[in-house]
Amino acid sequence: MRNTLEDSRFSNTPASSGGPRPELLAERGGGGRQRLVGFFAERGEPAYRARQVEQWVWKRAARSFQEMTNLPAPLRPALAEAFSLTPLEPDYVARSRDGTIKHLWRLEDGERVESVLIPTRERLTLCLSSQAGCALACRFCATGYFGFRRQLRAAEIVAQYRDSLRVAREELGRPISNVVYMGMGEPLANLDGVIGSLAALHGGFGLGARRITVSTVGLVPGILELARRPEPFELAVSLHAPAHELRLELMPIEKRYPLPELFEALRTYQGYKNRRISLEYTLIRGVNDAPALAEALADLAHGLICFVNLIPFNPIPARPEWGPSPPAAIERFSAGLTARGVGNAVRRPRGRDIAAACGQLRLSREG
Ligand code: SAH
Repeated sequence: MRNTLEDSRFSNTPASSGGPRPELLAERGGGGRQRLVGFFAERGEPAYRARQVEQWVWKRAARSFQEMTNLPAPLRPALAEAFSLTPLEPDYVARSRDGTIKHLWRLEDGERVESVLIPTRERLTLCLSSQAGCALACRFCATGYFGFRRQLRAAEIVAQYRDSLRVAREELGRPISNVVYMGMGEPLANLDGVIGSLAALHGGFGLGARRITVSTVGLVPGILELARRPEPFELAVSLHAPAHELRLELMPIEKRYPLPELFEALRTYQGYKNRRISLEYTLIRGVNDAPALAEALADLAHGLICFVNLIPFNPIPARPEWGPSPPAAIERFSAGLTARGVGNAVRRPRGRDIAAACGQLRLSREG
């Protein structure tokens, strides 16, 4: 795998066009309204029909034009010929004892991606995928072992939200309150798709920017691009090691964007945004949980407004020798950060029984 860091899987190669029909889920902030107005004008229909379609798309999360019952029946197949609603097929659904619901979605070309609904008392969080597969090959992540398949188009990312929203409304009786880009893939290696999807979630579905978190291994150009955007989307960085050699062992991306460069980008980001950054730290027994590493992490984060999420490692078959740090080691690590003034919390894994926990996606069906 020489030179993988140079190839297009890391650059923001535009995703394929997705066929001839414009995808309405990707059109927020683009020409969606005009296209719809044009469509109805050509057929001598009143302009308010465009708004009716938009209501179906963004308010009622319609999955087909047939559902749009306040439109004249003959118009529905005509709309379906002119536009796509980016259908996803649920290939598999798993429900955890803790309430977590995992979907494996089949895309139009047969690729499959996963998303996870995670209910807590205050929140209903959707964790969604930004790529089919992933090229980053983090050693502790199941997706990394499958390699990269392709970019997701903006509409394919948003469609995971739409279909999950329907499940949330119908089965859980509540809306999705938060979205995290922590499913399969590296969001900042798919900037076109991800930025388009952010616009649709925020501007189309009306989800607050502060309720949307983009999580990255630390792709510096993407972080800077996000910094320049006006909306206050949240940023999480998967750190997992505060020292070069160790991080390199766990995350090959450290070679391309080593820690000093990453933290310089985070400081720049904070200069633009003045927002707290989350650092994700997966604790692997005997690998990255030594108390001295908590100190090193605190030094690294010095001057940055950040919060560290400590996540006990979720075992994956590719790494049978690795296990989660024991509770006492996690406590010690957490206390080490707290003593140095770094806010942190230990996150309990959710959906482990259905392989829906962090880094486990795609395990049960193909692993
Ligand atoms: N590529 C992005 C988003 C996907 S991974 C990123 O790296 O941030 C979402 C989170 O799950 C990341 O913080 C990742 O490091 C973490 N993760 C991956 N595998 C894990 C595992 N086996 N146990 C616990 N966390 C894991």
